[in-house]
Amino acid sequence: MVDRTSSTLDAQTEVGSYFVATYPPFSAWTTAAVERDGKVALQTAPAPGVPLGVYLHIPFCRKRCHFCYFRVYTDKNAQEVGEYLDVLAHEWELCSQLPAVKGRPLNFVYFGGGTPSFLSTKQLEGLVGRLSALTPWKNAEEVTFECEPGTLTEAKLSAIRGIGVTRLSLGVENFNDEILDLNGRAHRSPEIGRAYAFARTLQFPQINIDLIAGMLGETDENWRSCIDQTLALEPDSVTIYQMELPFNTTISGNLLQGTGRFAQPVADWPTKRRWVNEAFEALEAAGYHVGSAYTAVKDKSLTRFVYRDRLWQGADMVGLGVASFGHVNGVHIQNFDTWETYSAAVRRDEIPLNRAYRPTDEERFIREFILQLKLGSIAPSYFSEKYGVNVLDRFREQLDSLRTAGYLNAVNDEIVSLTREGLLRVDALLPRFFLPQHAGIRYT
Ligand code: SF4
Repeated sequence: MVDRTSSTLDAQTEVGSYFVATYPPFSAWTTAAVERDGKVALQTAPAPGVPLGVYLHIPFCRKRCHFCYFRVYTDKNAQEVGEYLDVLAHEWELCSQLPAVKGRPLNFVYFGGGTPSFLSTKQLEGLVGRLSALTPWKNAEEVTFECEPGTLTEAKLSAIRGIGVTRLSLGVENFNDEILDLNGRAHRSPEIGRAYAFARTLQFPQINIDLIAGMLGETDENWRSCIDQTLALEPDSVTIYQMELPFNTTISGNLLQGTGRFAQPVADWPTKRRWVNEAFEALEAAGYHVGSAYTAVKDKSLTRFVYRDRLWQGADMVGLGVASFGHVNGVHIQNFDTWETYSAAVRRDEIPLNRAYRPTDEERFIREFILQLKLGSIAPSYFSEKYGVNVLDRFREQLDSLRTAGYLNAVNDEIVSLTREGLLRVDALLPRFFLPQHAGIRYT
């Protein structure tokens, strides 16, 4: 990955990855490890007490946002969508019989994409009927469903609630129609209000609103308005990402080719951090609690994010769908990343893995340490109990560098905690904890 050290993060938003989703970086995962490690992990009984989740990738969107870096399709008709759902359900039939999965209750379910709410009510209920007939999930602690506001009707929202969704995540990103248009978003602001108001009547235990700081065309005044409109809706949680430009976005492609298509630059990193900080301060003034580098929750005793917390503590997760990621019995796995290769493998009754990686114990420890640091603090005792590692000794040099730069509040046996400045740039601080062989390598 591009190691965005403090100096580069004081500058313009350049093309390259910022967000650290896992460790070791995806580019270290290999096809050679699929048979040797990935499939072996799936054929192995689970370790006792480890929760299991499932992620379902719904790779359809009405339009491709100019900043999107996910595997999505905008050109599939209803029949093709139906074929994909058949493949997805068959993939779960195959997976649910494997020793690593068979008979285990699901602790969490995550519908991501793409746009899960792109599916029609009939498609959604048909898919869920097939999946839950194999593995009931009514006792799952959390079922998350990502939505694009413009795809939501009252009937569809009722169906989403009806399949047991507990956490509805609305991809608002911005409330300004010109900015939504400039960035290639499919929805417009009236659809946000309509969808949110109806979702509230359905008693979802948690409604989350996603925002992006630094979309093309963003201004101080508009960002303040976005914060005000978010507060007015009183969502249970707010997630705010800083706009980044991985290589495969439309904006990145145009910037690298010098087409001049996107005349307005993405705001620089200091401006994006200031915007997130302003949002966090406004949310805190309204009683919210900042619980990670990206999230604030209204009531921390009621509002959790099970998917994130389980994954960041090393839970098992099966990723279903094209390009989906998973983690089973300590091994990272990823499916084939094209429609054709993915669906052909499932139709041959094969688990459609494309690459895998078996982390060493040290790498699993580092993975959990850097992911949990995104929460703003870690407890050293967690790592000494689970891995027998004293993080204060193991990372003395790295923690000293963070303290010297003003990014640490506390470093002691009880807690290592970041200052707000540290939290706002946390992804840029993490590569210093990587092993030497992973420092500076491409991220994806
Ligand atoms: S809605 Fe999300 S997944 Fe779909 S194109 Fe936009 S950013 Fe990508």
